[in-house]
Amino acid sequence: MDFRLTDEQLEFQQQCRSFAAEVIRPLAERYDREQTVPWEAIRAAREWGLHGVDHLMRMGSDPDGMFGVIYAEELHWGCAGIALAITASNLAAAGIAASGTPEQVAKWVPECFGEGEEIKLAAYAVTEAGAGSDVKSLRTTAKLEPGTGGGTDAGTGEWVLNGTKVFISNGGIADVNVVVATVDPELGHRGQASFVIPKGTPGLSQGKKEDKIGIRASQTTEVVLEDVRVPMDHLLGGKEKLDRKLERARSGHKSGPSGALATFEITRPMVGASALGIARAAYEYTLDHLEGKSDEGGPLLEQQRVQQTLADVATEIEASRLLVWRAAWMGRNGVPMTGGQGSMSKLKAGDVTMWATTVLMDLVGEYAQSTECPLEKYFRDAKIYQLFEGTAQVQRLVISRMQRQDHQERLVAAAQVLQQAPGTATGDAMEGEKEPAPA
Ligand SMILES: Cc1cc2nc3c(=O)[nH]c(=O)nc-3n(C[C@H](O)[C@H](O)[C@H](O)COP(=O)(O)OP(=O)(O)OC[C@H]3O[C@@H](n4cnc5c(N)ncnc54)[C@H](O)[C@@H]3O)c2cc1C
Repeated sequence: MDFRLTDEQLEFQQQCRSFAAEVIRPLAERYDREQTVPWEAIRAAREWGLHGVDHLMRMGSDPDGMFGVIYAEELHWGCAGIALAITASNLAAAGIAASGTPEQVAKWVPECFGEGEEIKLAAYAVTEAGAGSDVKSLRTTAKLEPGTGGGTDAGTGEWVLNGTKVFISNGGIADVNVVVATVDPELGHRGQASFVIPKGTPGLSQGKKEDKIGIRASQTTEVVLEDVRVPMDHLLGGKEKLDRKLERARSGHKSGPSGALATFEITRPMVGASALGIARAAYEYTLDHLEGKSDEGGPLLEQQRVQQTLADVATEIEASRLLVWRAAWMGRNGVPMTGGQGSMSKLKAGDVTMWATTVLMDLVGEYAQSTECPLEKYFRDAKIYQLFEGTAQVQRLVISRMQRQDHQERLVAAAQVLQQAPGTATGDAMEGEKEPAPA
């Protein structure tokens, strides 16, 4: 096992680091204050080769899965809000990749980013006022209406969507909206499907724009759907697949996780890495800020109370990064995360970032309360990483359930091994035990 990054990974890390330092950091304060879309940063990301389909292909080319988490950490080190504005379309693209047919993936994923100099954005709209963690309770409906020929088969008919999504990143500005809606509310998440709703579709509109404490450069709004009509081929995965899923659910067959949950699971190490970018930025800032400062106890960086906190922060950041990198590696290499390793990485990194920004503010003192101090912004930006893509509490539930199941499966596997082993009640006697031992 080699924990070092390869030359290629180091080169990519350096590119992301330079982009964050040269492009994102100088814009961070302005967009945090104005709370507007940082188009110039998104355009620059494209020019640097850090936004769009080519960039995604490059990220997927790393056999260790490190490119994605390196990218997320470095860009969020620059500014979490701007980084999310650059990367939020990835979630919709991941939703299309997870649920769409190959034709739908080929058509819609490029539309999430635009090509050449054209910049497009995408949104992944799941959450509703009564359905955040409780995804199975979605109330946005998708109803199938017969086409002109009266048919509702795989080729004809139109879907009509109604409902309101809340807290949607890129809401109102997305060219492509991937909307999760219920086709049969009685079936919970198994009665849900994902639809592509392009910008400008009649009935699609932006609702309230959120005025947030953190990640303010990333636009978050309600997305309102009033009799939004889309053709059959905007149903991700297609009608036949949906019909099969509904039929299985109605006949009581057990199923795997929903498309939405599967999408969130894949992206969790990236979210953890994003949080870590903020934690690292806050830690580095504090080291620089305290350098050369003294009080009656002497130089601050030589006082044990300060050293204790800094050592704890550095250790927790490293521990979180190891969880994040392992989960990214597992995801890329198809190793099942049966113990909830993806969720663990996001949970740990989110909690560490919120805690680290808090204790670092304590070290810096009253200046950290001023909007002049970068820690104040890191502290505000940190909170969301305990909330979206699964709250910290829900991550704990997921991990605990998966751990329990993993443990049960291990016990069953161990029992099977014992049963088959020689010398057990059901297995053959062990060599040397076939004959009675001499008296
Ligand atoms: C800035 C921002 C951007 C977002 N972007 C998007 C987006 O692009 N797309 C999208 O679909 N959504 C998005 N969201 C929504 C986000 O994913 C939800 O806010 C999140 O899933 C939590 O849902 P909720 O807010 O409804 O909280 P709730 O689920 O109502 O939870 C409220 C509280 O109860 C706790 N809780 C809930 N259930 C349990 C349980 N069983 N056991 C213990 N505790 C529990 C939660 O942990 C939380 O503390 C965004 C949110 C924000 C703030």
